[in-house]
Amino acid sequence: MRESFEIRDIDAGGRIGELTVPRAGTTVETPALLPVINPNLDTISPRRLADEFGAEILITNSYIIHGDDDLRERAREQGLHDLLDFPGAIMTDSGSFQLSEYGSIDVTTEEILAFQREIGSDIATPVDIPTPPDVSYDRAASDLETTQDRLEIAEGADTGEMLVSAPVQGSTHPDLRERAGHHAEETDLDVFPVGAVVPLMNDYRYDDMIDVVAAAKRGLGADAPVHLFGAGHPMMFALAVAAGCDLFDSAAYALYARDDRYLTVRGTRHLADLDYFPCSCAVCTDRSPSELRALPDDERESELAAHNLHVTFAEIRRIKQAIRAGNLLELVEQRARSHPAMLDGYRTLLDHAAQLERSDPVSKGSFFYTSHESARRPEVLRHHRRLDRLSVPDSLLLTVDRSAPDAGYDDAWRVQPPFGPFPRALSKTYPLTAETPERTDRAALEAAADGVARLVETNPDAGVTLAHRDWPADVLARIPDGVALVDLADEA
Ligand SMILES: [Zn+2]
Repeated sequence: MRESFEIRDIDAGGRIGELTVPRAGTTVETPALLPVINPNLDTISPRRLADEFGAEILITNSYIIHGDDDLRERAREQGLHDLLDFPGAIMTDSGSFQLSEYGSIDVTTEEILAFQREIGSDIATPVDIPTPPDVSYDRAASDLETTQDRLEIAEGADTGEMLVSAPVQGSTHPDLRERAGHHAEETDLDVFPVGAVVPLMNDYRYDDMIDVVAAAKRGLGADAPVHLFGAGHPMMFALAVAAGCDLFDSAAYALYARDDRYLTVRGTRHLADLDYFPCSCAVCTDRSPSELRALPDDERESELAAHNLHVTFAEIRRIKQAIRAGNLLELVEQRARSHPAMLDGYRTLLDHAAQLERSDPVSKGSFFYTSHESARRPEVLRHHRRLDRLSVPDSLLLTVDRSAPDAGYDDAWRVQPPFGPFPRALSKTYPLTAETPERTDRAALEAAADGVARLVETNPDAGVTLAHRDWPADVLARIPDGVALVDLADEA
């Protein structure tokens, strides 16, 4: 285990953890949101972030502070915590973003790490190379070498109690992301931002984002705290947490407010288009949309930023509760319905079901089948694998109807879409206690048929009869030839 990060609860790839930040003398519960504070303009003051919103950690940019004579001197004299007036943990960025925007910056990793330590940062960042999506493999690999050199410099630097992050780059090349994750994991650095994903999110490429995160996670291993760098829209938090991200930073709350944009967990609305507020925070209950529109610019911006933060922190709490209750994937399914690109992200997450299955708890509250994507959840995969280990009698009836006559067989097992067959002894165990709709869909039937096929293929000598009810021909085509078929609908 990494000393600074302890995992308390897990659901799918998501976890509730405790990040110990020794220099701040505090622990931060994850998943956590780090509001981004621009030291030159605070839309919501850091003190208010702590007192009113419960922020335990924020992030600001040491490069901006370093580049401003007045700020730099005040940060050196007072320290960052007094300068910002924030009692929690403070993470600092290094100027990598400016490097990616403007092509060059005027500090080295050594200098900016020393500066971050000097001004009292609790979690520092080296100057990595944020390689954008879709660049050539050679460029991504060569940038990655530079990033890895910087991580080694950071490892060798005298950073005291300050935690140091180890960004994981590699553009949209999964093998490079995985290699980068593995290299970062091998350092003694502490927090692992998956970098340069903002262009993916700006283009609604949640599918590619999930592939990038999954690859980084394969390299990093299970116990590394992962920061999805630049991800601040609450709509995608549940998806990203389920993929294994622990930390998010939000500049979105302030940037969107500046453009009169109102965040919701189902997407962004423009204040001009709202007749009613779908929210019960103080901002949304004190005023109507038209009253908010009538406010002077700076006041309206500040109020919108406060709403945006409320909705963002509420989603983080909702996600934690879902992890605790074991229904994070049900929450992801709900969020996936808010935008087709989110659905692509969820479907891509399920491409990695085998990776999620490794951390997913064996038992949870209750599996809810709420969309045909549910048929691809890690629990279904795990049940199919479990079928390989079950002993099967010489003659076995598999039936979708628990009251079907089973005379003449050694045993009768239920077949429940989407899981497939299981012996009676397992019927009270997770996930077979699932709540499923009466009107079964094709994906669930296909998954159940695949379970039957797996059982039969593992036990080729058993005589198996499948009693189904009106299964379509192309679902039955997934059942191996030797299985006797009975359609209960014909017998009624
Ligand atoms: Zn609100």
